[in-house]
Amino acid sequence: MPYDQEKQTAIAAVTQAAQLCEAVRQGLVPAAIEKNDKSPVTIADYGAQALICKALAEAFPSDPVVGEEDTTDLRQAAPVLAAVTAQVQQALPSATDSDVLSYIDHGNGDVAPRYWTLDPIDGTKGFLRGDQYAIALALIEDGEIKVGVLGCPFLSFGNETGLLLVAVRGEGTVMMPLAGGQPQRLTVADTSDSDHYRLVESMESGHGDHGQQHAVAHAVGITAPSLRMDSQAKYAAVAAGQAVLYLRLPSPKTPDYREKIWDHAAGVIVVEEAGGRVTDMHGKPLDFASAARFPNNKGVVVSNGAIHDAVLAALRGA
Ligand code: AMP
Ligand code: MG
Repeated sequence: MPYDQEKQTAIAAVTQAAQLCEAVRQGLVPAAIEKNDKSPVTIADYGAQALICKALAEAFPSDPVVGEEDTTDLRQAAPVLAAVTAQVQQALPSATDSDVLSYIDHGNGDVAPRYWTLDPIDGTKGFLRGDQYAIALALIEDGEIKVGVLGCPFLSFGNETGLLLVAVRGEGTVMMPLAGGQPQRLTVADTSDSDHYRLVESMESGHGDHGQQHAVAHAVGITAPSLRMDSQAKYAAVAAGQAVLYLRLPSPKTPDYREKIWDHAAGVIVVEEAGGRVTDMHGKPLDFASAARFPNNKGVVVSNGAIHDAVLAALRGA
């Protein structure tokens, strides 16, 4: 099977990172320190990036990893580093502080003909609130996403809480419990599935334009209240047929915001391989070949495919 080693490595690494994140979340109040951009970052973000980068460096030493975190702030915060190392040691007992720093910094690679992109905790605000978050890892070759793994420790679409979604280009998307179990093939919802004919959007009003998102959804006949979720769990909701549309239109407060590749790569392939479609708000494909932020894409439109052109038409008219 093409990409089997990549898929297995990514599944094992994301699962291990999800265990670390849940251990931190279920522990005391997650210790947050402020990064320069003021977004909260926790011991779990660093720990998850360390574990996943270590696994990738071992299995694919020449692949760069474009990850969200770096060690600039962590190097100034010895107690936080000690706490990160203690968590990493649950999986890698002999890891030292300096090992942990170098694993995390392995994630500071650049976009290349073949690279991985990693968000160790997407939806940190959700994580801190006890809501949705995701560990998102994807492999990109020549600008095309080939493998995507999304770990969603708090997500539930049935009995199981804690789901892992896995997609390989051309092979479909499967979902299984993070705790282990049978993979189940995912397909997006049909437009005729009225129970799931709904929009999913961010919890954070500053991460989108909720007013315009509702207007566009309404224009394609969506009348149900939207699902609101943090993180790439929104892509999981579309892939699993729980919603037909995820809109992420630029917030009026940050109209020039450039989306980051690690906030989308794993989610995009998970939806595409489940039969859905993803473009920017002008219908252009997202550009995973150029830089850590999409240089020429604005907004993101994720759908079951069938309603995509109608959504883009509504956006042109908006
Ligand atoms: P969500 O959980 O969907 O609200 O998205 C979380 C992600 O939003 C974070 O990983 C950030 O990278 C990203 N983000 C930060 N600021 C903005 C913004 N102004 N517009 C859109 N996304 C943002
Ligand atoms: Mg993120």
